[in-house]
Amino acid sequence: MELNSSIEKEFRLSPRQKTALGKLGLETIKDLLFYFPSRYENFSERKNIVSLAEGDKTTVFGEVLEASLGKTWKKKMAISEISLGDNTGIIKAVWFHQPYMAKMINVGDKVALTGKISRNKSGLFISNPDFEKISRYEALGEGSMILPVYPETSGITSRWLRFAIQRILNSLEKDIVDPIPKDILKKYHLPSLKSSLIFIHKPRKMKDAEAARKRLAFEEIFFIQMARLCQRQEREKYHSLKIDFDREELEKFLYSFPFKLTGAQKNAISAVSGDMRKNSPMSRLLEGDVGSGKTAVAITAAYLAISAGYQAAYMAPTEILAGQHFESFIEYFSELRLAPKIGLITSSGCQKFPSKVNPSEATKISKAQLLKWVVGGEIPILIGTHSLIQDSVKFKNLALVIIDEQHRFGTKQRASLAINKSENAPHLLSMTATPIPRTLALTVYGDLDLSLLDELPAGRKSPITKIINPEERETAYSMVREELKKDRQAYIICPRIDEPDPEKEMTILAKSVKEEARRLKKEIFPEWEIGILHGKMTPQEKDDVLSDFKNNKIQILVATSVVEVGINIPNATIIIIEGAERFGLAQLHQLRGRVIRSSYQPYCLVFAESKSQKTTERLKALITAKNGFELAEYDLKIRGAGELGGGKQWGVSDIGMEALRNIKMVEAARTESQKIIAESPDLKNYPLLAQALKNRVKQIHFE
Ligand code: ADP
Ligand code: MG
Repeated sequence: MELNSSIEKEFRLSPRQKTALGKLGLETIKDLLFYFPSRYENFSERKNIVSLAEGDKTTVFGEVLEASLGKTWKKKMAISEISLGDNTGIIKAVWFHQPYMAKMINVGDKVALTGKISRNKSGLFISNPDFEKISRYEALGEGSMILPVYPETSGITSRWLRFAIQRILNSLEKDIVDPIPKDILKKYHLPSLKSSLIFIHKPRKMKDAEAARKRLAFEEIFFIQMARLCQRQEREKYHSLKIDFDREELEKFLYSFPFKLTGAQKNAISAVSGDMRKNSPMSRLLEGDVGSGKTAVAITAAYLAISAGYQAAYMAPTEILAGQHFESFIEYFSELRLAPKIGLITSSGCQKFPSKVNPSEATKISKAQLLKWVVGGEIPILIGTHSLIQDSVKFKNLALVIIDEQHRFGTKQRASLAINKSENAPHLLSMTATPIPRTLALTVYGDLDLSLLDELPAGRKSPITKIINPEERETAYSMVREELKKDRQAYIICPRIDEPDPEKEMTILAKSVKEEARRLKKEIFPEWEIGILHGKMTPQEKDDVLSDFKNNKIQILVATSVVEVGINIPNATIIIIEGAERFGLAQLHQLRGRVIRSSYQPYCLVFAESKSQKTTERLKALITAKNGFELAEYDLKIRGAGELGGGKQWGVSDIGMEALRNIKMVEAARTESQKIIAESPDLKNYPLLAQALKNRVKQIHFE
């Protein structure tokens, strides 16, 4: 079989299977070969039914003797039930809440069930086991007792995938080209690509599968790092506008801030100004917890660029943030004798500009006018959303690009601001408040130098975080009332925008912004003004609500996690988060950051829908962890690799995320890629690697 030929050509497929394969993103034989099992049925640990005991976690294989769908009479909960028999005995298996199981399993089917053996009045049973239909032949093992289980979708079963992939493996004649240099494989004891593919799909021992996963995980992060280093090299070929500055003038500017810089801010500013002095472009990432004061660093960088007579652009991920930064910039610069003109451009057609009469207020101007002033250089600072990278936006001499919450933009969007706007590449300052584990940062930001703002401004109180049980709701609300009486304000975060869709049982529990706002106004806080904020509102509506909240016309803002990034309302001191288990820890930390903006004591009250031990354990980390980075590490450690779906937003697959749990592996990948680039910058000595990188670049550029 040719690796590049389509699956359709090699296998007979029903229309339903075709659609399902499409949904899984599988087109070619090669795609199938790189579609990896999510787990294995290990029949070498299989037990006969007669020898099962309560508490065992095991796999049993047998024939379905009975199958039925029923309801528990107390709670009307759907239960599917089967009896499974092998030569030694019979056991029941029960699935709660999964009526569709009864449809999937028929009397006479041969199945393997994996789960925990429990006991009730009528004897032993397996509850909610994983199940696989298999043939006796497979169960008894064809040499191997380990069966791969693949992620399914309706229309394609794990069984079909196993069958297809085994056939492909058997027909592999030519050696599969291994793009990773042999000496690297040898040094880190990694199997070759061909062995890895065989090991992962057809392991004889679990150890083989582990070795294969290790190699494939290494490969993924090695490729990402190679790609990032190549990008960096590309950028370094460009010249940038060299920015000389007068140290005294800079000191004066910094002195005009309404606060004293933290040590971390000073370090970051000195790294940034040092970078900008060079005539090769800066590539720096400023990573700092919410409230650590990244804006001041960004504004200083912009100040340096415009003082040298050049322009600066600032790109934010949402209109709310762009608007907020527009105001901050106007404020910071208003202290200067000759305040620079600052423009705001957003996709909803909003173009603003500080008014001549009262510079702290904005006037709307036409887009044409704004663009004319930008290309003419009369506007030295342009702030905006994605609309900054439209072709129509041209600068006179753009020297600096600042990107806020940079991971929200694709690499391509970032690159187009960073390179294509002029012959010179502007200096690039990326910023993020998203705390990510060090291993992930080393990988996905491999092309950037890092400045950390790991110090909160003096005078900030650390938040009091409480996990609230359902019966303590009233206590929580009285805490909110206390704050409001002191003239402070509150956020209440809900997981959803609208009322639940009655068809979708799963969402019924989650509170919705609209419904909750109504309930709070009617039953809990009738004497206070309540506003709502969510992603489906128009930019104008959002602006209005935020400005009402800022001016304390609204005391309680009920919102979705849209407030997670960057909203800055120092007078808000208490935040309630509903359905907290639906959020990642790092995200909860971001939300909590909304109330750590002033010298008042902040409170964060976390409500969970589930009382499970695991949920509580996890949420407790919010109280014990010292900062967002620790929480991110914690999330990486305690959640299974499968649950780390979050890797997708970074362009890292589940298997790659496994590698990120291993700092040694990440550092090895980094060392080796740096060595290769240093030895052969254009990869001439590594043609296989160069080719493989080219093929993968699509995946690695996460769009
Ligand atoms: P973030 O890093 O989340 O973007 P901001 O730049 O928005 O943080 O700063 C958060 C708040 O802290 C702002 O109100 C800002 O004026 C204030 N701030 C920033 N740096 C300092 C400092 N060194 N001392 C006191 N307050 C500061
Ligand atoms: Mg910010």
